[in-house]
Amino acid sequence: MSGGLLSIGSLSGQGMPSAKPLLSGLPLRGNYLIKNAHIITMDDQIGDFPNGDLHLNNGIIKAVGENINAEAAEIIEAKGMIVIPGFIETHWHMWNSIFRSMAVDDPGEGYFDTRTEIGGHFTPDDMYNGNLLSVTEALFSGITTVHDWNHNIRSLEHAEYSIKAIKDAGIRARFSFGNPVGLDDEEPVMFGPLEHLADNWQDYSNEGLIALGFAWRGIEGNIKVGEAELNKVRSMGLPVTVHASSAGIIGRLAYAGLLGPDMLIVHGMQATGQEIESMVKAGAPISLSPFSELRIGYGFPEVPELVRAGATIGLSVDTTVLSGNSDMFAIMKNILNITNALEQDEFKLSPRQVLEMATIDGARSMGIADITGSISPGKRADITMVDGTAINMQPMTDAVNLLVEAAQPANVHSVWADGRLLKHKGNLTHLSVEEVGRKATRSYKEIIKKSK
Ligand SMILES: [Zn+2]
Repeated sequence: MSGGLLSIGSLSGQGMPSAKPLLSGLPLRGNYLIKNAHIITMDDQIGDFPNGDLHLNNGIIKAVGENINAEAAEIIEAKGMIVIPGFIETHWHMWNSIFRSMAVDDPGEGYFDTRTEIGGHFTPDDMYNGNLLSVTEALFSGITTVHDWNHNIRSLEHAEYSIKAIKDAGIRARFSFGNPVGLDDEEPVMFGPLEHLADNWQDYSNEGLIALGFAWRGIEGNIKVGEAELNKVRSMGLPVTVHASSAGIIGRLAYAGLLGPDMLIVHGMQATGQEIESMVKAGAPISLSPFSELRIGYGFPEVPELVRAGATIGLSVDTTVLSGNSDMFAIMKNILNITNALEQDEFKLSPRQVLEMATIDGARSMGIADITGSISPGKRADITMVDGTAINMQPMTDAVNLLVEAAQPANVHSVWADGRLLKHKGNLTHLSVEEVGRKATRSYKEIIKKSK
């Protein structure tokens, strides 16, 4: 096991990646009128439009409804398309996507040892390549917001290069700063780089698209160190996220009086009814990652109990080392099927409830429902358009059911993030998949070599 030396990088941010994976810079925020689509707004006040129009201009949702006119707007004819809010992903260790489907015996043993082993070898450039791979796949899959749960920050540069990839892709994100994997429980996280980022956040935030948060390791290792970290980041006004991967963790947080609406709990495995109640009472949302939870053997996400208690549930990828990919359609389907199976009830969860988790409730869990998560005039233009004419979507029976049970990332026709058209006619408009893949492969090979 290699820990890698911790170092605080230059505060200037110099030496950022110069080899551009981009085909071009970010496209401008345009003026678009999407015509004749099946629009599912996920806004209860507005509802759905089987034959609707949607006007996006300069990053804002201007209007949604029937027969909308927008002079000078570029018309996107969308007959046969299903238009939804862009998916909100709520917990993803994006850096380690370079090790997709590699929770195996070599180089480590299973996910956690592999992650710790490889993590020590990541250079800032590798962080960039891992994050870029993740956000490229996210946009391709119709995800317009990601939560970069970044627990491999070994220097300021590691953080800066991670953020740079998110910025280059133009996706909305929370970047949660965390301790590097393998850090001793007694050792506090590096606050120098975190404070630098917080003090200069306007230089990193890509015009407000990226928010700063803290990826907290909790109080399982050393309660004193953990509590001190939490107090510190709360005094900085940063939202917090923490894993609760095994029994009793939520209870201990509740007992210590540390839960709060600013704390996004991840997994909540084996939570008791009382723990779920205390989490909901404190206003703490939860993120569920069914593919990693199943793959690693944590068990089933406790969706029935969480829904019964009125929890705010968001969905997440967690890590493609375990989940394989970032297919939010499959995540929704998995949540629906697991819940109905656990309850032995065909009707326990509806496809619309699951679509809420992937959109508006995901936004609520991230504290950004006032700006994204539904197609509501005035919100930012984060939109995903799914091709309902694809063979696996035919015939167009019920649009919501099809999204949850039939759709797949290849069906994502177009994606707007903050009003920028980043995927169109099935292709990314600004990122070269080939170049992103090449960079990720190079990092993968170099890290494998170092870990031998
Ligand atoms: Zn995780």
